[in-house]
Amino acid sequence: MTAATIDAMHRRRGFSITDRNGTTYHVGYHYLIQQDGTVLAGRPEHLPGAHTRGYPDMLGIALIGDFHRASNRGRRGPLTPPPAQLATAERLTVALLRKYRLNTGHLYLHRDLGQTACPGDGFPRQAFYADVAIQLARPAE
Ligand SMILES: [Zn+2]
Repeated sequence: MTAATIDAMHRRRGFSITDRNGTTYHVGYHYLIQQDGTVLAGRPEHLPGAHTRGYPDMLGIALIGDFHRASNRGRRGPLTPPPAQLATAERLTVALLRKYRLNTGHLYLHRDLGQTACPGDGFPRQAFYADVAIQLARPAE
């Protein structure tokens, strides 16, 4: 799945939102992280998200890829987020938790809140939470 695919898919699913300046955003997430670690803007943080039913106030960060072993089967890219992608996800998460004065208790995976297995069994939940907590405990640069 690419950013363009997600854009088109979310447009079809009616996730689009237009801000007060007339700019329309289709992607339901606030941030997309590509496998090379590049961050793509989804929609601005002040706009409600369209990523998890019932939680529009939450910021949504999507990692591009298929990390479900059952559906990926080694044919749809890496089974776990590549190190560069995961490192960016951790840095972005830490920055957002700091910005909004939150902690890892406010951090959820999609499957914690929705009827989904997302982000898949290949997502290293424990390591991710541990790394975020460690970085969060360090003084901000
Ligand atoms: Zn998801």
